[in-house]
Amino acid sequence: MSHTVRGRFAPTPSGRMHLGNLFSALIAWLSVRQQNGIMLLRIEDLDRARCKREYAEQLIKDLALFGLDYDEGGLTGTDRFSESCVQSERNDYYHEVLSILSKRAHIYPCFCTRAQLHDINAPHLGDYTPVYAGTCRNLSSAEILQKQTIRNPSLRIEVPNQTIAFNDCCQGHVEENLSHSCGDFVLQRADGIVSYQLAVVADDARMGVTEVVRGRDLLFSTARQLFLYDLLDAVPPRFAHVPLLLAPDHRRLSKRDAALSLTSLLTRFSPEELIGILAALCGLIDRPEPVKAVDLIPHFSFEQLKKEDIVLSPSFYHV
Ligand code: GLU
Repeated sequence: MSHTVRGRFAPTPSGRMHLGNLFSALIAWLSVRQQNGIMLLRIEDLDRARCKREYAEQLIKDLALFGLDYDEGGLTGTDRFSESCVQSERNDYYHEVLSILSKRAHIYPCFCTRAQLHDINAPHLGDYTPVYAGTCRNLSSAEILQKQTIRNPSLRIEVPNQTIAFNDCCQGHVEENLSHSCGDFVLQRADGIVSYQLAVVADDARMGVTEVVRGRDLLFSTARQLFLYDLLDAVPPRFAHVPLLLAPDHRRLSKRDAALSLTSLLTRFSPEELIGILAALCGLIDRPEPVKAVDLIPHFSFEQLKKEDIVLSPSFYHV
């Protein structure tokens, strides 16, 4: 059995990268390169309304500009199984995985509307995800048939009432009970597109990914993903959820923060300056001096990386 580390970039091409996306990509790359591992690039474009091929093409150019190379995947490349690494081209595979899961767990149609899901006085995980109350878990066949005439259902998986624990390389010990934190979650949306949770586990498992480095905003997806790994009898990767970069008012960055998009930043800073700024912000180097990503490899360790989110100074917003 090979022990080669396999990490990945898994960007969603819904706009040009912002500084936070670049930061996660940098840390994922540094960790893999320091361990002489294999880096792969998977394009997560399941949300066809938001994703564009031109954004994916730009993303690939941007990764190259910052010296963040990869060994497998991309838009034309394939992984070691000679499959496409573009999620929108992997639908048949996701449905195979869904059918395996449906033999091993209770997966059921859910007809709740968005308004119903957000309306019930349900507790919320983090800032927005309501805990699903199990409303459609035990519908009879007759009820399902009747409801199907009105709307297409999503598919949910029933979660166990038990604690799932893991050790995150950045955030330390994490534990979560899915029945309290999110409830039965969606594997396929009402429009037939599989959910992020299903696709990411199906892909990471199939591509032999051993290390997932991504933003802390996805920390509370990890227990759901570990639950799916377990059902699939697949070995989960190790996880590292890196701090988020926050706007000066402590908001999470989004692709709408135009001043922090690479389009704007690259008119003010060189790629080496930006890498140096990120490395200093997260504690890898003392001062924000221009540096190439490759020169940071010897400095990299998860222990050294800041754990808390990083609040950007307002100066980033000024031209
Ligand atoms: N595609 C996700 C994003 O761009 C990342 C998913 C992951 O790393 O698991 O936010």
